[in-house]
Amino acid sequence: MDKNVKICIIGGGPAGLSAGMYLEKKGYENYTILERNDHVGGKCHSPYYNGRRYEMGAIMGVPSYYAVHDVEEFCGITHDGPQLNRNYKDRNGNVIEPFEPKKNIFKIPRLLKMKKQITELGRILETKYQGYDLNGHRGVAQGRYEGFAVSPEREPVSGVNENLKDLSMPFKEWCEMNHVELVQDVWIGPFTSFGYGYFDEIPAAYVLKYLDFQTCMNFVRINLWTWKNGTQFIWESLNDKLKNHARLNSDITKVERKDGKVYVTVNGKTEEYDKLIVTSPLQYFPEYADAREDEAKYFGKIDYERYDVLAVETRPEDHPEISYYVFDNMTPDRLGHLMVYYRRWRDSKDQVITTYALRKHKNSEEIPYEECKQTVLDDLKTMKNPATNVVNEKSWYYFPHVFSDDYAAGWYDDVEAMQGKYDTYYAGEIMSFGDMDETAEYSRELVERFF
Ligand SMILES: Cc1cc2nc3c(=O)[nH]c(=O)nc-3n(C[C@H](O)[C@H](O)[C@H](O)COP(=O)(O)OP(=O)(O)OC[C@H]3O[C@@H](n4cnc5c(N)ncnc54)[C@H](O)[C@@H]3O)c2cc1C
Repeated sequence: MDKNVKICIIGGGPAGLSAGMYLEKKGYENYTILERNDHVGGKCHSPYYNGRRYEMGAIMGVPSYYAVHDVEEFCGITHDGPQLNRNYKDRNGNVIEPFEPKKNIFKIPRLLKMKKQITELGRILETKYQGYDLNGHRGVAQGRYEGFAVSPEREPVSGVNENLKDLSMPFKEWCEMNHVELVQDVWIGPFTSFGYGYFDEIPAAYVLKYLDFQTCMNFVRINLWTWKNGTQFIWESLNDKLKNHARLNSDITKVERKDGKVYVTVNGKTEEYDKLIVTSPLQYFPEYADAREDEAKYFGKIDYERYDVLAVETRPEDHPEISYYVFDNMTPDRLGHLMVYYRRWRDSKDQVITTYALRKHKNSEEIPYEECKQTVLDDLKTMKNPATNVVNEKSWYYFPHVFSDDYAAGWYDDVEAMQGKYDTYYAGEIMSFGDMDETAEYSRELVERFF
């Protein structure tokens, strides 16, 4: 493609900003990033409290976050944040150690079986499901894999593997089919409590591409990255470094694609581009763009999670000594309850803690926001860490995905086949997975494939 091509990128989150970085690295400098908010970072959102930043959105990374590492190198920053640590409580607020055999004599047979199944899972992922962990979902529903190796070099890889078709089924069903159902006890922590839905509804492909074997083991061993100035700082640093900084407060009211050009009306003025990269939620694209029939059809099938975060103050004597997971609250029958709460700064009680809850499940009625908030505040009392005040709250548009039927019917291959068709490219969370690295990596691969 001509290096002077004029590119409009919608969205100044990890996907949009990293698209800018990878374009720039490849010699494309005529790009514009349009961001609706008055700040960059999207769901990497780190406000200040008492002079320090806390996390209302993304918190952590793992050593295999190669795209985030590219960004760090580009900006000369590193993951210099506080060490993560956590304990577990039951739904009544008692501290428990669910994986410690000595503390769970009656559960020893189950724990031994679980350990064996984890080893077995590692084996089948390497063999039967070879190719499962590539970024994005190209070919999976057709029993193929195609993309780039998950390694710093990202060599191109592709192959045929009929077993990959199994990944469209819900993770719970997939585990049962492969006789590794107890691995869910471990995978559920960094999946459901991180807002990615329930194992009886979410296709295994999403679970395993994000929590590939190594990544899950990094969570188990707490081999994790955080950033002192918050995850938002990563993207602020990138925005500062880019030749073309994101244009904030951009209100896009119209996108029209005709005669090989893309016309974007932003803050009342129409601008002309050659190509468009959409990293904002595709579900809402038809609301302001001249969406074609196929775009409207496919984007209308996207669902998303309602993931609620509260930042609360406590009295010093009620401040939790560490972060807690509440496994009892991670199943659909406990929808709307507190699943995890995070104490970020170990050296101070004069900080907020953040709480996390889901309030939507495919087969249940959505819990209203206020009701969920009250349940979480009540749960904090049960946990013996009552809040005195809520200082910030957010209900995120979170983890866009499709369900098993659409996944198996080839949603991803159909949408991938539309890349570039209307001078438009699709990126952001839905195209890979809702975490910082998968979205940034998808942008890298998009630039590699099409520009
Ligand atoms: C509570 C929470 C915890 C998380 N924890 C982690 C974690 O620990 N680790 C991890 O890796 N990830 C985590 N994530 C997920 C991660 O933050 C997201 O997956 C990532 O930010 C997605 O990047 P994105 O650019 O695709 O989308 P977003 O971050 O959502 O960015 C999209 C951007 O587009 C802008 N936009 C939307 N519509 C328009 C429009 N019409 N015009 C212009 N701009 C528009 C938005 O304002 C936003 O800035 C977490 C997220 C949340 C909410």
